[in-house]
Amino acid sequence: MNKPRSLYIHIPFCSHICHYCDFVKLFYNNKFSEPCLKALFAEIDSYHIDKVDTIYIGGGTPTSLSDEEFTSLLDKVKDFLTPNGEFTVEANVENLTKEKLEIMKSRGVNRLSIGVESTNDGILKAIGRYHTYEEAVKVVKLAKQYISNINVDLIYGFPHQSEEDLRKDIKNILSLDVDHISIYSLIVSECTKFYKDGVKEQDQDESRKFYDIILKELRENGYERYEISNYARNGKYSRHNLVYWHNQEYYGVGLGASGYIAGARYTNTKSLKQYLEGNCVDIKETLSKDELLEEYLLCHFRLEKGFAKNDFKNRFDQEFTEVFRGKIDSLIERKLLIIGKENVRLSDDGMAIMDNVIVSLLG
Ligand code: SF4
Repeated sequence: MNKPRSLYIHIPFCSHICHYCDFVKLFYNNKFSEPCLKALFAEIDSYHIDKVDTIYIGGGTPTSLSDEEFTSLLDKVKDFLTPNGEFTVEANVENLTKEKLEIMKSRGVNRLSIGVESTNDGILKAIGRYHTYEEAVKVVKLAKQYISNINVDLIYGFPHQSEEDLRKDIKNILSLDVDHISIYSLIVSECTKFYKDGVKEQDQDESRKFYDIILKELRENGYERYEISNYARNGKYSRHNLVYWHNQEYYGVGLGASGYIAGARYTNTKSLKQYLEGNCVDIKETLSKDELLEEYLLCHFRLEKGFAKNDFKNRFDQEFTEVFRGKIDSLIERKLLIIGKENVRLSDDGMAIMDNVIVSLLG
């Protein structure tokens, strides 16, 4: 059995909690971060990892760790990476310091993902971020002196955000001149402050209008939308995230992390107490063939290129067109689904209503 070639590490600490966040996170406190790293290192050891092609340290906010903790974390994992591997760290504007960048550079980190989220100071304050746009500009500029492959995250669909606000955000984000941009619509989940405050998500029509503006503007400015929410220039796709979207296996370690090893998906406990006791894995499941098929479509239809017909046949022992005979014709007629010579993919319109397309295939 082949071992996974990717490693995700979840650092659950943040120096503040944003009003929309439903990730697994805790306020940073070295009373917890030290034992948590110790438990994390033991969990990493338990997998006997040889080499991986991608490492992604996310969170939470990895850069909220102290410089010593951050150094020990990178030292723990850096040698797993193959020579041309991709090593990404997520960072927040307020704690991406010169020192952190030096630590990363010297340990082989070659990709940064910076949470800019908005370029409007009023919105940044309203969503609970602790930086201004001007600070984000400075940090991205500083980061470029150390690491050239940079992603910035942007969120759209905030209450009262106008089309004009969105266009300004896009213009500002483009002016940062980075090779990768991730843009997500605001999701209001139940466990968030936004939900308690009654904040509503954009309705579908409005969200589609914003999505179309983003797609058009970014394409016109040389970015390829290679995944539903991700845009890259110069082929600088996120290799790590492509592992998820291609449904490939990966190690997932850290509080609340998920992984996929030897055909089984697992999710780690979200309880710090259990995690510190070494009881990391909470749920483990092997998916049925139907579930695998649904997951395959959900992941691959997010991608501009969709999937290779051969890959589908290898995984499911049947051609895509055979499995979905009788269901694909109307999707093709409506120009939502495209069956090419080698690949099967969704059109722009199809991607915009991907869930509906999948329901009509699986229903
Ligand atoms: S959005 Fe990021 S920085 Fe904000 S609380 Fe969530 S994980 Fe922490």
